[in-house]
Amino acid sequence: MINLSYDREHVWHPYSCLPPPSPPLPVAATEGRHIILEDGRRLVDGMSSWWCAIHGYNHPKLLAAAARQLKTMPHVMFGGLTHEPAIDLAEQLVTLTPAPLKKVFFADSGSVSVEVAMKLALQYWMARRQPARHRFLAVRNGYHGDTFGAMSVTDPVNGMHRLFSGVLPKHLFAPAPLPGFAETRDEPAEDIAALSRLLDAHREEIAAIIIEPIVQGAGGMRFYRPAYLRQLRALADDYNVLLIFDEIATGFGRTGRLFASEWAGISPDILTVGKALTGGMMTLAATLCTEEIAFTLCSNPPRALMHGPTFMANPTACAVANASIDLLLDSPWQQRVQAIEARLRDGLNDLAELEGVRDVRVLGAIGVVELEADDRAQRAQDAAVAAGVWLRPFGRLVYTMPAYNITEEELAQLIEGMRHAVEAACA
Ligand SMILES: *Cc1c(COP(=O)(O)O)cnc(C)c1O
Repeated sequence: MINLSYDREHVWHPYSCLPPPSPPLPVAATEGRHIILEDGRRLVDGMSSWWCAIHGYNHPKLLAAAARQLKTMPHVMFGGLTHEPAIDLAEQLVTLTPAPLKKVFFADSGSVSVEVAMKLALQYWMARRQPARHRFLAVRNGYHGDTFGAMSVTDPVNGMHRLFSGVLPKHLFAPAPLPGFAETRDEPAEDIAALSRLLDAHREEIAAIIIEPIVQGAGGMRFYRPAYLRQLRALADDYNVLLIFDEIATGFGRTGRLFASEWAGISPDILTVGKALTGGMMTLAATLCTEEIAFTLCSNPPRALMHGPTFMANPTACAVANASIDLLLDSPWQQRVQAIEARLRDGLNDLAELEGVRDVRVLGAIGVVELEADDRAQRAQDAAVAAGVWLRPFGRLVYTMPAYNITEEELAQLIEGMRHAVEAACA
């Protein structure tokens, strides 16, 4: 038996207190698209463990890759040493991401990869003898992680980090991109104009713009148009600032393209990936940058990027990431994501008519129901679990991002669970 009372007294859970207001569910095992609770209940997983488990759980190919690597070299330090899993993974990432991104830094979590992205930008401008460029331009509703640098570019008001505003550096925030992915017109709208005004007013100070392309995740599950990113790229070039895309949530096919930046056909100067990188099995993230950034940084004192986590490029995590990427590319992932998108639209769209529902939106393998009230998350979660589905709503958002290989039947059950959750939340 899992010792729940010890958990209650001693173990922190994400964004929670001790003892937690509602106890976590004890999980005994995972299997395919199922989370198996200690009492034997099997829940269809709607969360992919926060965007990660894109192939479902316990995939035999990922398990085999981990087992192989564990036998030869579970871990070794990366300072002064190197190994095949890391080199192979770097090559995969350079090949798959937009062409100008050529240099790879392996980090141990998404937040750390964002810290590294910010350091790259700062050190780049130091190397170019423009140290006054030390501020970042971000957008409202963004989310980039929980470490201090990442918090400082996350939405300062609606984010989870308002508490720390006194100690965080003051960066610049433009309004969030207007909602709506399908927006096709290319002329600049007020959102990009506001961003452009900030760039203009602070042109000497800005090191980089940082944004999640196409999908703003934990900051509101909002989708926006590719044209915005094209205009952003053009502005970054005009004002000579770097552009950082945080694809930790969107990378590896989630939006229907391998990387969300592909919707706009543009490339950032710095890119972060994480979450689905290992198919949800190990903690690993990476920051990629252009030749020019690496060359500039390395041609000037101190001739080093000042970061180096203990578990940098952990061989087991890299081996699993290589297997996960192979598995993804060998699968009909694009058709699968499209099919999930169509089914989610079909199954969720009419919830928009329910009183208490503000909006329903679907993009790729992401389905979101936004409620009017922000205090119904627990009620929604309980209703989903009662219907045999794992959802973890937060604030006004009941949302799902299932594994790409979810079966028809499981997806039908997941949609039923979403509907129960939303109806319970609105009741
Ligand atoms: C989850 C997430 C992060 C933080 O990643 P962790 O691995 O939780 O540190 C950063 N940016 C985005 C867009 C994310 O979704």
